[in-house]
Amino acid sequence: MDTLVSLCKRRGFVFQSSEIYGGTGSCYDYGPLGVELKQNIKRLLWRDFVQSRADMVGIDASILMHPTVWKASGHLDHFTDPMVDCRECKLRFRADHVDALPWTHYCPATKGNKFTIPAGEPCSHCGARRTLCPDCGKGQLTAPRQFNLMFKTFMGPVEEDASVAYLRPETAQAMFVNFDNVLQSMRLKLPFGIAQAGRSFRNEITPGNFIFRTREFEQMEIEYFVNPRDAVEGRPADEYWHDRWIADCMAWFRRYGLREENLKLREHDRDELSHYSKRTVDIDYRFPIGWSELMGIANRTDFDLKQHSKFSGKSLTYFDEERKEHVVPYVIEPAMGVDRAVLAFMADAYVEEEVRGEKRVVLRFHPELAPVKVAVLPLLKKREEIVRAAHAIRADLAKQWRVVYDDTAAIGRLYRRQDEVGTPYCVTVDVQTVGDSEKGEAGDGKVTIRDRDSMAQVRVPIDALPGVFHDLLGGGAWAQVAARLERQIQK
Ligand code: ATP
Repeated sequence: MDTLVSLCKRRGFVFQSSEIYGGTGSCYDYGPLGVELKQNIKRLLWRDFVQSRADMVGIDASILMHPTVWKASGHLDHFTDPMVDCRECKLRFRADHVDALPWTHYCPATKGNKFTIPAGEPCSHCGARRTLCPDCGKGQLTAPRQFNLMFKTFMGPVEEDASVAYLRPETAQAMFVNFDNVLQSMRLKLPFGIAQAGRSFRNEITPGNFIFRTREFEQMEIEYFVNPRDAVEGRPADEYWHDRWIADCMAWFRRYGLREENLKLREHDRDELSHYSKRTVDIDYRFPIGWSELMGIANRTDFDLKQHSKFSGKSLTYFDEERKEHVVPYVIEPAMGVDRAVLAFMADAYVEEEVRGEKRVVLRFHPELAPVKVAVLPLLKKREEIVRAAHAIRADLAKQWRVVYDDTAAIGRLYRRQDEVGTPYCVTVDVQTVGDSEKGEAGDGKVTIRDRDSMAQVRVPIDALPGVFHDLLGGGAWAQVAARLERQIQK
């Protein structure tokens, strides 16, 4: 994790928020490369799960909602975590996370020497297990109290009970309260889904582990409504669609590069299920901090629509034409944390390897995720024609993709820099490309494309570049595209 955090800061992926003021606890800012990566993740989610499907639509709702939404949804009563306080140092912990922390121990068997003991393990000298505060090692912890995670604020100029509002702790509720608006305006038939990507806020007791758990984060949630009376392939529709979404989400992560061995499904036990859930399955990822939740896929039943109908007095049903009856749809909810996806894709892409006796750091991003698709590099920055040609190539390719120009180091260094941020291809302009006008030598108009992963190179005419990158960035494998280009050159 330290390696990733340092790379993120050094190369402009993620910065500590308000760093010049000492930082704001567990708040982060995405830098120039981080914002591209995050936007690519959101764009692909939207393209693959909304735009390309006939049964999906999207919305973009307000973060501040009517306060009754949170009464109806159960968040005011149930959206709590158990919190314990240290009586000595006053630090607070989530009761169910205390045993997952390394703990401080003053060991009586070694004259009270201080040790930091790995999470969950006993002291190797005296055999004691943690009973006191894991941080200071001295104070007793209080009994757990329930702490509501919603951020409270006030709408308008008067801070009074009547103007209390909450920052949404999940994006889901906007899809439920807009269910009828979307159904009527888009004339949809079950099953169909509504998606939304946006910010959520949770006043987490123990945020941490970089962007894994923060108090302000981004989610992409889908509420997929099904008719509970329907059967698909002999199974109740909600159970069938729950499994379909689990499989589709797993396939999506694999498609964009997460390795099979780093992904697993985790079924929630009965006593762990949220108050609205019939069944919940998490997709867990092997983060640098260990196996943890990347996203959750829940069967929320008809709980939310019924609750909002009860509290608002509005009917939130669907008219089943075949059976000539109104039904309250069940809903399957794939809920993904965009920031956790950023962390997972970065962790999975990160590789250190040795090339000719030197360490090479590479982010092997899927080309569609890579923040920069192509870097155009002049071999000699003192040759004006080379620099001019390189700028012209960048400007032309940048009409379609994120393309950068860099001439601030020697070519070997420039390649390494692009490897480290995951740029899949570099284009190098050299003397041969432009020729030498003083000597009356014409250039060949060709440039070198270098592949990040294999470091192999191929020379192609400048005017072929848009077509070549169309193939490569559109999913074409380097080996095939390069072999085809070699054949064309030989003809
Ligand atoms: P956790 O058990 O880790 O607190 P959760 O089960 O409460 O997460 P959900 O309510 O299912 O999370 O939210 C859906 C997704 O939103 C999570 O899988 C995660 O990717 C993301 N998420 C939730 N809380 C946070 C947070 N504090 N910071 C970053 N992402 C979060």
